Amino acid sequence: MHVTTGFCPCLLISLSALTFAASKPNPLTSSLSVTVLVDFEKPHSEVSLKAMRESLAALMAPAGIATDVAIKSDLPPGAQFAELVVFKMKGYCTMDAQAVPIGAILDERGPLALAYASDGEVLHFGEVECDHIRHSLGRLLGAAASVKNQTAMGHAMAKVMAHEIYHMLGNAKEHTHKGLTKTSLSADELLDGSLKLPDDALAVLDKLRPNGESPRP
Ligand SMILES: [Zn+2]
Repeated sequence: MHVTTGFCPCLLISLSALTFAASKPNPLTSSLSVTVLVDFEKPHSEVSLKAMRESLAALMAPAGIATDVAIKSDLPPGAQFAELVVFKMKGYCTMDAQAVPIGAILDERGPLALAYASDGEVLHFGEVECDHIRHSLGRLLGAAASVKNQTAMGHAMAKVMAHEIYHMLGNAKEHTHKGLTKTSLSADELLDGSLKLPDDALAVLDKLRPNGESPRP
């Protein structure tokens, strides 16, 4: 379930027959609306958040999935959603090192993001490891908290979230051989604007629709 920058510590759960019962498509529209609820545990960059929101929408659109990113702390109590995935945003989701307290421990080898699984089903709940993403990008971009870097951070966050949403909505425990949903993503790939959901992942997500029709022309 993880997307990592190195070898894959994935498949902590055993593989079993894939099922696609996780999501109920809206029969009235060809687009599946999914609320992506993000729960920041630390201060984050608004520039990165805006870039993530735009980038995630663009990444999921070919799958016919319309994402609406909502901030957990902004929600009224008791808010309800038809289709929901939740991400705990761990660490500091910003390129601004000033926002990170001195002495914070940054683990470079852990996952960039992960989805939880239980009883053979991928849950609609995961984590994004923002400190790890920032560290990975920082090697190529430097530590400046420029608008350009914060935007790149947001785009990278969207990539690892789209990867996990594929696992969650598709109840997919396997990775693809290429594209956004392969086992690991390098810093270069996190910055690669051409990286997309591959056909294999789109085919899995198509099964969320009535008759499995493709939303793509
Ligand atoms: Zn994965």
